Amino acid sequence: MSDSNALDGLTQALRKLPGVGAKSAARMAFHLLQHDKPGALQIARALEHAVGSVKHCALCNTLTEQDICSTCANPQRDRSQLCVVETPADQAALERTQAYRGLYFVLMGKLSPLDGVGPNDIGLQILFDRVVPRNERGEPLPAESREVQEVILATNFTAEGEATAHVIAQALKSRGVQVTRLARGVPVGSELEYVDLGTIAHALVDRR
Ligand SMILES: [Zn+2]
Repeated sequence: MSDSNALDGLTQALRKLPGVGAKSAARMAFHLLQHDKPGALQIARALEHAVGSVKHCALCNTLTEQDICSTCANPQRDRSQLCVVETPADQAALERTQAYRGLYFVLMGKLSPLDGVGPNDIGLQILFDRVVPRNERGEPLPAESREVQEVILATNFTAEGEATAHVIAQALKSRGVQVTRLARGVPVGSELEYVDLGTIAHALVDRR
């Protein structure tokens, strides 16, 4: 507790950031109020603006200010391929390889039962509805009339990423979807965001 309710409130708010505990939060609050009030206002305005304007792309679930993000709206992309990634950072890593011209689906997370993250907490149902749309009578479209013909699983090669890929693969294969996984070569336990471009590009070409 400090001598200021406002300072305590700011410290509490900063603790909402991932990985920030009580001491770091207090340090940040002191720094902003003592040394960088313009910076503090900039953060406040940027947060308010982002929270008010950023939403999920209706097609791929990534964060965007549009209803449909620029990747999904790009007519040059191959709409028959859908690459499933955990985060926008993973999508950016794949994009940097320039080896993939299809579309993406961004889960915005991964299955993590120990942390209480189940199928409904990440975009699995949105993904399934996207890949296997239903007709006006509510019946799943047959494989030949679906836009997405191949789903490429590019979740991370961590235990949770593998489990997420497994659950998606089972669900989609049972609906008659062709599912492939990025090839090994990406080191076990690694996150795509930190893997070099050549390795990712090979893993994409050699997918099974
Ligand atoms: Zn999109």
